[in-house]
Amino acid sequence: MRDYKQLEMFKEVTHQEWNDYHWQLNHRITTIGQVKEIIPLSEDEEKGLISCLGKFKMAITPYYASLIDPNDPYCPIRKQAVPDVRELESFKGDMEDPLNEDGDSPVPCIVHRYPDRVLFLIFNQCSMYCRHCTRRRMVGHEETVINRTQIDEGIAYIKSNPKVRDVLLSGGEPLLLNDGDLEYIIKGLRNIPHVEIIRIGTRVPVVLPQRITDDLIKMLQKYQPIWVNTQFNHPKEITSYSKEACEKIVDGGIPLGNQSVLLRDVNDCVYIMRELLTELVKIRVRPYYLYQCDVAKGINHFRTSVAKGIEIIEGLRGHISGFCVPTYIVDTPNGGGKIPIQPNYVLSENDNKLILRNYEGKLFTYTLPQERGTSCHCKKCYSKEVLGVEKMLLE
Ligand SMILES: *Cc1c(COP(=O)(O)O)cnc(C)c1O
Ligand code: SF4
Repeated sequence: MRDYKQLEMFKEVTHQEWNDYHWQLNHRITTIGQVKEIIPLSEDEEKGLISCLGKFKMAITPYYASLIDPNDPYCPIRKQAVPDVRELESFKGDMEDPLNEDGDSPVPCIVHRYPDRVLFLIFNQCSMYCRHCTRRRMVGHEETVINRTQIDEGIAYIKSNPKVRDVLLSGGEPLLLNDGDLEYIIKGLRNIPHVEIIRIGTRVPVVLPQRITDDLIKMLQKYQPIWVNTQFNHPKEITSYSKEACEKIVDGGIPLGNQSVLLRDVNDCVYIMRELLTELVKIRVRPYYLYQCDVAKGINHFRTSVAKGIEIIEGLRGHISGFCVPTYIVDTPNGGGKIPIQPNYVLSENDNKLILRNYEGKLFTYTLPQERGTSCHCKKCYSKEVLGVEKMLLE
């Protein structure tokens, strides 16, 4: 496990300050001068950075900055945190809102795309602005600040939609709200009888692990079942600090998952991914999704081919424990939602048998049953006389 190095610029800082998330937030790196104190910049890099800052926000917590290797221009932490001039390039097909979240938004802070669950965007700022962020259109801008009225509207929307059984709190960074404001929202949701699950999507275990305090966990425990998903993208992000934060969450009885983004020159490599995923399960974080990078403006240089993602999954499934393997997802432009992509293991199929390929590339035959029809006697299937996907599409 790698640990942080004390940065020269923070060498006077006490342990207590370093471990206080308010201190971390108040001392974020936001200017070129500060960046230059951590990493050497060429003249071109400096110029690029200046023009990027005119358009996109930068903020790096001292903790996350301490993980940057100043001698490595390809450092995966640096790539996620420090702006790159390529953010200003635009490409055919780039979109402001690639997932059409605004189009699926019945009230300002809610995205309602799937039948039984909603995304509830409760805070528009982040502790660290990821260079690959897909929600740049709303994250970190003055104009998109979320107010109490909008939060109340969101809660009211969920209350009036009995089909919503799972609410996913996201942003921005939901855990940048203070415990009281967060509790107001979670309590409001918990009071709605049809809300079964509350999920929190947060990057603080990775970029501001100090935010995972005992008080926060105690508050969340009052409103179980709560699930948390975070976003580790590279094994270098697993440190004694992030480990402690994850362990607090899991020891608090809150299941913790991970959603990585596949990023070119950061983690688009089967060896890096294997290390990341096997290290994650050691700290009891369960890999959930691996996302293909979205077609958002300013992040084209992070995108890989889909073939690369399939190749990585091929190098995982069968090679490492099954629960280390995330589902690879393309979240489709224009609001089509998440679509899972798998390597193809079925080589051919006829009436009698399937020819399958295993993880080593060896071929196997599976003989199909003679009797193909089924007659499920559960109440729902039985009453509708239609089965499976067909039935679901009719509902
Ligand atoms: C990702 C997402 C969800 C949650 O999807 P799961 O597959 O259940 O994790 C819900 N709503 C929206 C709009 C999403 O993008
Ligand atoms: S934490 Fe999430 S919302 Fe915030 S900048 Fe990173 S990817 Fe975007």
